[in-house]
Amino acid sequence: MRLLIAVGKSLEEAREAADFQSWCRRRFRALTPQIDNPLKVALFIDLDGTVLDIAAAPRSVSTPHNLTATLRRLQQLLGGAVAILTGRKVDDVDRLLAPLKLIAAGVHGGELRLEPDGEIEVASGSVPGPLIAAVERLARSVRGVIVERKGIAVAVHYRAVPEMERVLATELRDLLANHSNRLVLSHGRRVFELTDVNLTKGTALKRLMETPRFRGRRPLMIGDDSPDEAALETATRLGGLGLKVKGEHFKGGAIDFRDPAHVRRWLYDLAERLDT
Ligand SMILES: [Mg+2]
Repeated sequence: MRLLIAVGKSLEEAREAADFQSWCRRRFRALTPQIDNPLKVALFIDLDGTVLDIAAAPRSVSTPHNLTATLRRLQQLLGGAVAILTGRKVDDVDRLLAPLKLIAAGVHGGELRLEPDGEIEVASGSVPGPLIAAVERLARSVRGVIVERKGIAVAVHYRAVPEMERVLATELRDLLANHSNRLVLSHGRRVFELTDVNLTKGTALKRLMETPRFRGRRPLMIGDDSPDEAALETATRLGGLGLKVKGEHFKGGAIDFRDPAHVRRWLYDLAERLDT
């Protein structure tokens, strides 16, 4: 009996793997004519849920084997026109991709590094102290909620208590109304963030597209979550493509990638192709 179950499972897995490979090939063929010239393409990539698998807490995320090598190859092949757009701080991006350093926008466009070894520009003021204190008081009252201070933003993670989503949203909106008109409440994957109203991943992508490494290229943005929407739209508006990864935010409709493993495989194939 045990043997039968084992055989059945492996057959199913083999079929799934074959479907996956064939989907990768079809999708890659469809996009290839549009991205075939390494001098004309720029890549913008979100991290969590896009090339990194989601973990229970932001600190427990790990970088898959070979991702860094693929990104380094693409950075070289595309003349440096590869940027990470993330809600994480740029220092955290460096830690996750070490020893590789890339051009990056952190904290949803609040931080910007225009060159891999350049200074990190901080485009926004710090979150007011009394607001941080109030958010931390709120988090202490809800077991399982984690507050992450990012200087120019505050994230409230509730992955462990998803049923508290509505309560947290109401409470955080009230806190914002009392403490700041410069920040807005944004909603990501099991996380709320208080971020600068004028800065998004879209503003970061647009700013980067005006710099010499990116100018004149076609932006290709890959993302999985609501904070990526502004960048996906901006890339499309600038004549490029916004590619969506399936997850809690993009569930149906025009989805380009099944999961982060699919994106990693596609990036690897892209590097292989551009290298020939
Ligand atoms: Mg994401």
